[in-house]
Amino acid sequence: MTNTLFEKAKPILESLQSHNFQAYFVGGSVRDYIMNKSIHDIDITTSATPDEIESVFEKTIPIGREHGTINVVYQGDQYEVTTFRAEGEYIDHRRPNEVYFVRNLFEDVKRRDFTMNAIAMDMQYQIHDYFHGQQDIADKIIRTVGDPSERFNEDALRIIRGLRFQSQLGFELDIDTYNAMEQHISDICHLSIERIVVELKKLMLGNAIKQSFNNLRQFQAFSYMPFFKHFDLSKVTIEQPMPITVFIALLKVQQPDMTSNISDLKMSNQEKKYIDKVVQIIEAIPKVQSKAQLKLFVYDYGKEDILEVLSYADTLKENQIAINSPFIINSRAIVEMAQVLPIHSRKEMDINGKDILALVDKPSGPWLKSTLREIECAIITDEVNNYKPELIKWVKTHV
Ligand code: ATP
Ligand code: MG
Repeated sequence: MTNTLFEKAKPILESLQSHNFQAYFVGGSVRDYIMNKSIHDIDITTSATPDEIESVFEKTIPIGREHGTINVVYQGDQYEVTTFRAEGEYIDHRRPNEVYFVRNLFEDVKRRDFTMNAIAMDMQYQIHDYFHGQQDIADKIIRTVGDPSERFNEDALRIIRGLRFQSQLGFELDIDTYNAMEQHISDICHLSIERIVVELKKLMLGNAIKQSFNNLRQFQAFSYMPFFKHFDLSKVTIEQPMPITVFIALLKVQQPDMTSNISDLKMSNQEKKYIDKVVQIIEAIPKVQSKAQLKLFVYDYGKEDILEVLSYADTLKENQIAINSPFIINSRAIVEMAQVLPIHSRKEMDINGKDILALVDKPSGPWLKSTLREIECAIITDEVNNYKPELIKWVKTHV
């Protein structure tokens, strides 16, 4: 059966072949195609060197030239085209600095991580499967290419990748692969945190997160990772897929006394801000005890983010995090409150700091900020209308 994405990319293989190079689809797209899953980015592996790839195609971007990867821009899409390669010596359990370009497919797939990721497919949809990847896919087994202990010793990220695939695909780990993971887990302390986080993000979102997370705990994987090593993960159960940001927020709320620095994870400012916000929402939930407080809560944190956090209520409860009774906080109540908010941000208030200073005979100071907040709360809880003359009257009697 053909596939639209492979059909679109076919001319790239054709061009390489017409210049007497070998070229194949490889990696995740072939694995997902065999599993009948929708495929995303297509990786191509070829006997052409980076220079040769550039000479064949009009538009290329030398994205990872030193590891042999050139992006080919074709009909508006980008394809990663990588030269067949074998890897040099591994130092410190990280990816090697040196790569050797080789001229045959077997050598290239031999250095790939798992049998299901080492399957190549040509233009005619013929499969080249040197390590029984198709059988392992049929049996739902994750198995390294070659001796697992050697492969994890070379690059410990493969351990986390293996657990990431377990979570995403719901496959079992081959017993030797599992044992070697346990044996080599401490080597992940040599990896860059960026590479770990890329895999952890995908792992946390996998449908089989429960098994995969149990294995991470079993191996004490987190104790070898920056930031996470400060938490006691034996207290944490994760049984539903969630963004890593929510997972981190959960840890911070459950174990607030841990001295840890979120910057160690080198996440974006946007992600860090979101983690803080989720922490605030989780901590605010049990304090909401009345309709007025609920309204203020919805105003302060926004419907979308609150609903997102509430979707993890079961997990939070399982992790001994106090959550309000669903009679007080539930998605319907949140949606209804959001609809009746008189204002949605401070900018919509019909009075500002300048107005207040003009009314009150006091120099500006921290009191102004708290006064604005008081007025804001009064508007939200319908104590006063958001109408300047009424607000002025309110200020005169309250300040
Ligand atoms: P996804 O569908 O999530 O992209 P993928 O299998 O394509 O999964 P990538 O990270 O895109 O994963 O890597 C592409 C391919 O490169 C893999 O299928 C595998 O063959 C190879 N690969 C990636 N990382 C490693 C590694 N650390 N060691 C060995 N081979 C690897
Ligand atoms: Mg991929």
